[in-house]
Amino acid sequence: MSGPLVSDDVIVGWETHPFYSGVLKAMEKAGTAIQLDRNVYNRLAKPKRVLYVSVPVRMDDGTIQVFDGFRVQHNTTLGPAKGGIRYHVDVNLAETSALAMLMTLKNSLVGLPLGGAKGGVRCDPNKMSRREKQALTRRYTSEISMLIGPEKDIPAPDIGTDAQTMAWLMDTYSTQFGHAVPGVVTGKPIEIGGSLGRVDATGRGVVYTIIEAAKRLKMDLSDKTRVAVQGFGNVGYHSAKILSSVGCTIVAVSDVSGGIYNPKGVNLEELRAYIAKNRTVKDFPGGDFVSNEDLLELDVDILIPAALSGQITEKNASKIKCKIIAEGANGPTTPEADKILFDKGIFTIPDILANSGGVIVSYFEWVQGLQKFFWSEKEVNNKLWEIISNAFNRVYDFHTASKLDMRHSAIAVSLEHLSKAMLYRGFFP
Ligand code: GLU
Repeated sequence: MSGPLVSDDVIVGWETHPFYSGVLKAMEKAGTAIQLDRNVYNRLAKPKRVLYVSVPVRMDDGTIQVFDGFRVQHNTTLGPAKGGIRYHVDVNLAETSALAMLMTLKNSLVGLPLGGAKGGVRCDPNKMSRREKQALTRRYTSEISMLIGPEKDIPAPDIGTDAQTMAWLMDTYSTQFGHAVPGVVTGKPIEIGGSLGRVDATGRGVVYTIIEAAKRLKMDLSDKTRVAVQGFGNVGYHSAKILSSVGCTIVAVSDVSGGIYNPKGVNLEELRAYIAKNRTVKDFPGGDFVSNEDLLELDVDILIPAALSGQITEKNASKIKCKIIAEGANGPTTPEADKILFDKGIFTIPDILANSGGVIVSYFEWVQGLQKFFWSEKEVNNKLWEIISNAFNRVYDFHTASKLDMRHSAIAVSLEHLSKAMLYRGFFP
């Protein structure tokens, strides 16, 4: 055998990774605005705990493939670590750590009694059979089971994972105890303790923050409001669907294979059925083909990046024409792009606020499970609205008072709460 066992881009240095260092820089800037205690910043600049696991899986062709996986707990001051598990070919330690740090900031911002974590396996779930994915999930769970638990660290879906993945994870974890332990994950199927409203919660939260932003910016949301959505996974699809039910026109949608543009509105259900059948948006009859890059530069009112990180950069930021960007994805905008957008007067609803609906309803699922008392979908959505609109307004008020952009305002509001908790608890020993 030749070559390294683990390639360099699996274990990337935190400082040299643009996403990780971008989040650090943003935290530093927001921290300066609130005179954040330097000790608190230093503690938050590194994750609390990192676990690397190698995950052997017998593939359908009989060979054993060994995948690289991680679980990173960034901070647990406010409560058990919480955050999703990602299956994607680009997963690495620094990216997982940056995403875990964003979870800490997100959970503190919206006032959840939870810390921040993220996990991931470097694999291509689209090229794996159901059996292979099940084997991967069960072995990965077993490898991280010393870290996770209902009072310790609670995973959830992210890119490449879904309710079925969570069901396998819960089942594998539960076998150690001889009884079901539903509290170890959220985003489970309803039948095994999932919450109503969890599947569309992230998209719904994106829309709720857009409604709040439109009120503040005195912008009407009507059929004249043109929306482009990058990403047609769980977050992109539900954001588009709920926004169109509010009356907006979704003029463009894309997935990894490219995008569809139709100024009269893309038929989301037809497109979904088409992608399920053909595995690509190419040649969809209900609109013109646009590339993922072109979609970001369309003349629209609202742009929702709901795919991967690092999509809006210094290269394309100056060409973006919308009024509002609502970040369905985690980290879609680079720090350089942020500045360009701010100078252009584009209003960004940052990731830790815009996409917090997912973890808010995860928290509801966890609480319902612990109490063994379940709520109606209406109750879930009403409580989501209460928490997310309240967080939006706190961030917006900070933004108008400080003149800081919305991203740094959101981080500042989050850090104000978290740093108090950290200082109360103190640094041991
Ligand atoms: N993966 C989602 C996020 O990035 C949800 C996390 C959760 O529900 O724990 O916010």
